[in-house]
Amino acid sequence: MSVTTETINRGIAVLENFQDSKLLTNLNSCVHCGLCAESCVYYLTFKHPYYVPAKKVDLISSLYKRYFTFIGKNIPFLVNAKDLNEENTKEMVDLFFGACTMCGRCNLHCSIGIDIAFLVRTGRIMLAQMGMIPATIQSTVDASINSGNNMGITTEEFVDTIKWLEDELKDEMNDENARIPLNDSNVNILYTLNPREPKFFPLSISAMAKIFYAAKESWTISTKMYDVTNYGFFTGNVKEATIIANRLFDEVKNIDAKELILAECGHGSRAFRWEAPNYLKQSFDFDTNTSVELIAEYIRTGRIKVDKTKLTQKVTLHDPCNLVRNGGVFKEQRYILEQVVTDFVEMTPNGIDNYCCGGGGGQLAMSEYNERRMKIGERKAIQIRNTNAKIVVTPCHNCVDQLMQLNSYYKLNVQIKTIAEIVADAIISD
Ligand code: SF4
Ligand code: SF4
Repeated sequence: MSVTTETINRGIAVLENFQDSKLLTNLNSCVHCGLCAESCVYYLTFKHPYYVPAKKVDLISSLYKRYFTFIGKNIPFLVNAKDLNEENTKEMVDLFFGACTMCGRCNLHCSIGIDIAFLVRTGRIMLAQMGMIPATIQSTVDASINSGNNMGITTEEFVDTIKWLEDELKDEMNDENARIPLNDSNVNILYTLNPREPKFFPLSISAMAKIFYAAKESWTISTKMYDVTNYGFFTGNVKEATIIANRLFDEVKNIDAKELILAECGHGSRAFRWEAPNYLKQSFDFDTNTSVELIAEYIRTGRIKVDKTKLTQKVTLHDPCNLVRNGGVFKEQRYILEQVVTDFVEMTPNGIDNYCCGGGGGQLAMSEYNERRMKIGERKAIQIRNTNAKIVVTPCHNCVDQLMQLNSYYKLNVQIKTIAEIVADAIISD
C-alpha cells in the first residue's frame, strides 16, 4: 500500500466535496458513550475496542477535524485531529471494508442517532478515490461492468440455463405453453435475478417462474441486464455504481415494462430502489418493488392459491439488513410465511433489531476476511439453533450464501430457502 500526497488529497477531497449537513452532523456528534459497542456483531464477537463502531466514527471524524476545523488545523491533539497517512489508511481499509457489514444495527443503538453505516460508506468512498478498494470486491464490480453481470456469465450460458429451466417448468406444469420469457417487450414486469441463481441456484428461478405461471403474469427477463446486484454501492465507487444502476434503468425502458421487480437480494434492492434515484439524479416513472412484496400481493389478492398444510416442519426467518432495517420491508415476508407454513417461529431478536448474518457489506466477495466473517456469523448460528427450526427462510441470495456456509461450519443441520422457493412448494392449482 503506497499512500502519496496525491492519494491523500483525493481522499480528503471527498470530505470537502461531501460537506453537507448530514455528513457534518454525523462527523461532529459522537459523545463517546460507548453504547454502540454491544450492537455490533464484530465487537460482540471479538470483545476488543478496535471493533467498537465509535472507533470507525473517530477514524473519519479525526480526519475531518484535522483538515477542516480551526482547532484541528492548529492544535490537533486537543481534538484528536489526525493527518491522513499510511497507517490510518491501512486501518480504514481494515475497518471500513473488513470489519463492517454496513448493517446499520449500530445506528439504531447510538444514543444520539449517528448514522455510523453512512460514515463507513463515506470512508469507503474516500478509499475508492484513493485507489484502495480491495481487489477481491473490485473484481466483482469489474465483472459487472465488463460482462453485464457480477459473475461474468456469458449470454449463451445464461440462455441455455433458462431454456433448460423452461423445459422443466413445462414438464412440472404439464403445459407445453409454460414459459420463462426472455426479452419480451411491453410486459407488466421486468424481473431481475441475482447472478448466483443461474450460476449456482437455478431452482430459485424455477420457483419464481412457477409463481408467475400460477399468477398468469405478463413478465420477462432481459438477457442484456438481469443482474439485480450493484457492488459499486459497497465499494464506494459512485461512478461505477451509477453505470450499473443506469443499465437496469435503461433496460426497463427498452423492454417497456410497467414495473421492475427486484429479486430476493437485500443490497440489490437497496442499491436500486432506494439509492439509484440519488445516483441517477431522477425519480423513476415506473413502479419498483421487491419480489417479496409482489408475492405477498399475489397471495393477498388470491392470484395464487397456497396450502400451508403442505409444510409442517418448523420454519424460521432471517431478516436481511438491507431489506428490513435499512429498507423497511418487514411485514410482507411474515405475512407470506403465515400463509405457506404451519409452524413459523421468530428468531430473537428479529426485524429491525436482527443481527446481520455476517455476509453483508460485500464481505462474501472479500475472501481475505473469510475467517472473520465465519466468526461473526456464530451469533446468527446460535440464533438459528435456539429456534429449533429445520428450515431457515431468507429473502436474500447473499444471506442464503452466508447461511449455507454457517450451516456447514456450525453443523446446524437446517435447510436454507428463499421466499420464492417456500411459496412455490405451497402452490395449489385452482
Ligand atoms: S454497521 Fe453493523 S457491522 Fe458496521 S459498525 Fe455498525 S453494527 Fe457494526
Ligand atoms: S453510541 Fe453513538 S455517540 Fe455513543 S459512542 Fe457510539 S457512535 Fe458515539
